Amino acid sequence: MIQGTATSDEPHTAVRDDTAARPAAAPVPGELARLGRRSFSRGLVAETQESGKNDFARPQRRDRPRNGEALRPGARQETLREANLLVLTEEIFAAAEPLSRADLSIRTGMTRSTVSRLVDELLAAGIVREGSPVVGGARGRPAVPLTPARKTLAGLGVEVNVNFMAARALDLTGAVLSEEIIEGDYRDSDPAQVLGSAGALAGRVAAAAQQTGARVVGTVAAIPGLVAGDERSLLYAPNLGWKSVDVIDAFGAGWPERPGFALVVNEAKLAALAVAEELTAEDLTEQTFIYLSAQAGIGSAVVVDGLVDPGPHGWAGEIGHLTVEPSGPQCSCGSTGCLEVYAGKHSLLQAAGLSPTGTAEDLVSLTEGDDDAAAQARAAVAQAGEALGVALSGAVNLVDVHDVVLGGEFAPLTDLLRSCIEAQLRQRVLAAEFCEFRVRESRSGLSPAASGGALRALRAVIEAPQDWVPAA
Ligand SMILES: [Zn+2]
Repeated sequence: MIQGTATSDEPHTAVRDDTAARPAAAPVPGELARLGRRSFSRGLVAETQESGKNDFARPQRRDRPRNGEALRPGARQETLREANLLVLTEEIFAAAEPLSRADLSIRTGMTRSTVSRLVDELLAAGIVREGSPVVGGARGRPAVPLTPARKTLAGLGVEVNVNFMAARALDLTGAVLSEEIIEGDYRDSDPAQVLGSAGALAGRVAAAAQQTGARVVGTVAAIPGLVAGDERSLLYAPNLGWKSVDVIDAFGAGWPERPGFALVVNEAKLAALAVAEELTAEDLTEQTFIYLSAQAGIGSAVVVDGLVDPGPHGWAGEIGHLTVEPSGPQCSCGSTGCLEVYAGKHSLLQAAGLSPTGTAEDLVSLTEGDDDAAAQARAAVAQAGEALGVALSGAVNLVDVHDVVLGGEFAPLTDLLRSCIEAQLRQRVLAAEFCEFRVRESRSGLSPAASGGALRALRAVIEAPQDWVPAA
């Protein structure tokens, strides 16, 4: 069911046939408030557009200088400029209300002339834009509001999951420039073929974004599995049946002219990043929650004060393989009694008497009847909710985070699952009597990981604005 690539300014809906039955993809918050600071707690791409290859910012300990580089360089004129560009960019992107040059000068202590010179560079880079002057600013002078630029630089996120692939391009304001979602069945598929198609899909969505005038800075692919430290290869994705795949290579086969950098990140971490943006825009405060991403498998990510913690190797959050019952059924990962065999989409639909290719909405409607089939569906949901509650209790005891956000296929089931999950949390979490649990539904719609990928690609701009300033 391939749909056309959408290119629009309008509030966005996911492009697929059954949009009526599914939550529309919520627009990513209009302003990526705090994009510069929020995101992964570990450093990311330290790559410039010139280098053409990824330099993954894993912390590396070195004992002696290499290639004439200083071990710990002191500040120079140039690093001072870069640091100040970063400060101004972060301030502009984090502001709830647009700031003027005068506001920036007051907030940062930089002189008006320094601020003006650096803001001119950010304007030339297409990172910020000027609004219409507002009279009544400091000392009555008209103030020119500065906000993230529209349709100048775009990040591209691509998700390949078991039942669909999606690509989405966002600009620096978080607006969707283009997107496309394709349904499919990629279980036990040929990775070269599927990733080649995903590359072609990304190429179409990038071309549509470029037609709006934006330049694609980089691409971040989301895959449900363990990603290697080089952030270009997948080690293992049990639900896709893939092992040891160079994702970026295979991806490039379908999109040889790919601009900018490309990397691959675990799907749940990127989805959590998009959900953190969404919730922060709603609540106007940094969010702390456990995000559960249910597709065919179940992934998760812990978000603390808006930062996704991926673990030292990027492998944290594999909640789908937490053991719920050691003597339970075999899981795709080789273990037994994992959460996924009780609450994964396919297991849940089968237990409810539905086809594994059905949807969560089918399941919700089925539970609303008053016959035996409805009773079976309700029992299946209760069993999945109990398993989720048991696994989440372990996670909550370990990480001390009491908010749970259900995303992906679980989102429409939130009202049905909540009481079962909360009952387990109250029973099993040691701190239960001293805290409140909250189980919420993510409204990020389809493929939040594609949005998260685009956001993460855009961080290359926010974190190193100097790399995007055109040479004088
Ligand atoms: Zn497992």
